Amino acid sequence: MPLSNGDVRSSESFFGPVLDHTKALEALSQYEERDGLDIKSLLDSKKHGGLTYNDFLVLPGYIGFAASDVNLDSPVTKRITLRTPFVSSPMDTVTEHEMAIHMALQGGLGVIHHNCSAEAQAEMVQKVKRFENGFIMDPVVIGRNTTVGEVKALKEKWGFGGFPVTENGKLGSKLIGIVTNRDIQFEEDFRQPVSAVMVTDLVTANHGTTLLEANKILSKSKKGKLPIIDSEGNLVSMISRSDLTKNLHFPLASKLPDSKQLICAAAIGTRPEDKIRLQKLVDAGLDIVVLDSSQGNSMYQIEMIKWIKGKFPGLDVIGGNVVTREQAASLIAAGVDGLRIGMGSGSACITQEVMAVGRPQAAAVYNVSSFAARFGVPTMADGGVQNVGHIVKGLALGASTVMMGGLLAGTTESPGTSFVSREGKLVKAYRGMGSIDAMQDKKAGGGGKDSQKSNAGTARYFSEGDSVLVAQGVSGAVAHRGSVTKFVPYLAAGLKHSLQDCGQKSLLELHKSVENGTTRFELRTASAQLEGGVNMESYEKKLYA
Ligand code: GDP
Ligand code: GDP
Ligand code: 5GP
Repeated sequence: MPLSNGDVRSSESFFGPVLDHTKALEALSQYEERDGLDIKSLLDSKKHGGLTYNDFLVLPGYIGFAASDVNLDSPVTKRITLRTPFVSSPMDTVTEHEMAIHMALQGGLGVIHHNCSAEAQAEMVQKVKRFENGFIMDPVVIGRNTTVGEVKALKEKWGFGGFPVTENGKLGSKLIGIVTNRDIQFEEDFRQPVSAVMVTDLVTANHGTTLLEANKILSKSKKGKLPIIDSEGNLVSMISRSDLTKNLHFPLASKLPDSKQLICAAAIGTRPEDKIRLQKLVDAGLDIVVLDSSQGNSMYQIEMIKWIKGKFPGLDVIGGNVVTREQAASLIAAGVDGLRIGMGSGSACITQEVMAVGRPQAAAVYNVSSFAARFGVPTMADGGVQNVGHIVKGLALGASTVMMGGLLAGTTESPGTSFVSREGKLVKAYRGMGSIDAMQDKKAGGGGKDSQKSNAGTARYFSEGDSVLVAQGVSGAVAHRGSVTKFVPYLAAGLKHSLQDCGQKSLLELHKSVENGTTRFELRTASAQLEGGVNMESYEKKLYA
């Protein structure tokens, strides 16, 4: 049946002769330039001013693969690569050990804040490092005379209840038994020695057994623990059944290849006492230190980077924050392994308003990342990330990872509990580290009066000696977002779908294609931004299910 009463097709269009459809791809070559802008033209601040995430969009590419095939591996430092490029911010309403453990289990990274005593921070690092293991090289060991009451107290302290018993109560001594939760669960006589309740019929493996073999022996043994002993029967290490389950449940976890322990990062300042703090963190097993300063290009930070690189060559150092190539150059020259980018873009931040210093985040991320890439230094886009789209843009602009504060502060794993706001919404507290609240207040358990002087907020903003504290952040609340165990996989799935739309199968390929001009961008006018939002009388915004 004809679609109209006459053939309306013509050999001419407004734009010239009409070609056969098979010539469509070929015809593209007649255009001098590809559709949209390349990254350099987009971020040309002389033409467009300093842009931020909402000012542009990425143009779609060609989808030739499933979203589930997209690879999100990305380096966070020169030496360490994450499977999921998300990092939680070192803020006292965002990252303590609970957040750090769960970010790492999901393939990301948590940076433990330093608005607490060095001891409290080191204890948090230790909790992250102890959470999962291959061979537990320093298991908590007891002697035969340790009482049942003492074992219960140890379980309370450490969170696990399986303790090998040795002749002298230490590692390296003859293994004589093991005490586990079940052995003491219903014991009422707390004073009796563990020798009365311990299991002595032990399944063990010999020193030198590979982790693979040891795991097999443990799986078959139906026991919870497998002590590893040397030829004289002395305890060398141990493996735990629960680690096999953790490995199974969290295949993306950020772990060190040998120890299988979770990767842990923590923030410190750049004052002399931070060197003592860092020693404690390193002793607790720290892998990455983040130098936490709102303006990283300082003599203090440069000296600190050099000192750390000399003293702890195995420790990776992320410097920052920076927003210009010049700032980045100083820290790269000093030896950083990664850079953190952002000044004034954070959701709880008033730096740009009060200090008139900073930079729109898209401009900052592009300029610093494109420079740092020349030296193999990965960058982290820190602040201003309010949705998956912002994550994609931060990464497309050259960052290898994104750091989030406000977006993660509302999750179950952030410090503090949720409460109902005056408007009747379920929320959690969130505050800028430069807010008056954070600068005056030490966290509970944060180390008492003598550590008041080491407040992370005042240090970050160089305000320690000031008689008047000038706020660079605010405090308030953010919406409750459920658990990181669901929220981070949502962010990752969203990112994979976005990369699929862009036609990029991995973050590495995205960076390459942005760099060579294949991935294109478009500026958004104010009305284009309105158009991109929802335009309805009423609606419910449910982000994932
Ligand atoms: P993959 O876990 O199969 O990806 O391979 P890996 O190289 O990471 O692990 C090698 C061996 O170590 C395998 O037998 C893993 O099951 C085991 N493994 C990995 N992570 C852990 C862990 O956290 N604890 C223990 N006990 N074993 C692990
Ligand atoms: P348990 O049965 O009560 O000892 O505890 P689980 O088996 O549930 O959990 C033990 C977890 O703590 C595992 O992930 C271990 O790797 C970890 N862990 C870290 N250090 C130690 C230690 O010294 N002893 C024990 N038992 N577990 C440790
Ligand atoms: P968000 O993800 O909430 O947008 O931003 C988090 C980032 O804001 C942090 O990682 C940190 O760089 C920055 N930040 C945290 N507290 C403050 C503050 O009080 N003032 C300023 N200027 N920035 C802050």
